[in-house]
Amino acid sequence: MPIFRPQRKRDPDAPRLGATPTSISRRALHSILASAASAYPNEFGGVLRADPPGVIGELLLLPGTTAGRSHANFRLYMLPADLTVVGTVHSHPSGALHPSDADLRLFRNWGRRHVIVGAPYGPGSWRAYDGNGRETRLAVVGPEPESSVRSPEYRPRSVHRPDRPLPLADDQE
Ligand code: ZN
Repeated sequence: MPIFRPQRKRDPDAPRLGATPTSISRRALHSILASAASAYPNEFGGVLRADPPGVIGELLLLPGTTAGRSHANFRLYMLPADLTVVGTVHSHPSGALHPSDADLRLFRNWGRRHVIVGAPYGPGSWRAYDGNGRETRLAVVGPEPESSVRSPEYRPRSVHRPDRPLPLADDQE
């Protein structure tokens, strides 16, 4: 199937628009886990955007997506025609991290990377899958979101926040 790729100046080694993502931002992962935890005991679902290409950095909640005790009902026909949308994410309140038969049908139907998160929605309570339902690796990149910093010594620096965020001293990446 031909895919339209707009030509524009870019780093020739950078991932192309529509490329298979190889990483997810720590911020997006935290947002996914927090959304899944707040939906519990119901299921939560959304779609994943990779922008810049190659890095899943945003969670989109689809209008009309219903979350219930059964599987999240993805209404993929409501997706924007947007090559930055690369796959789906949904939660398993049971805690299972493997795809169900219905998940495999969804994965094979559309998308390059799919994430399943499971209760208790901790930092490791997720797995990534390819379009065939095979487990795959997504590197977690970028700084820790401020809201997830749990150190009792932590004090927000928002009182005198500079216009641009300062690099965090403990950022590993
Ligand atoms: Zn599922």
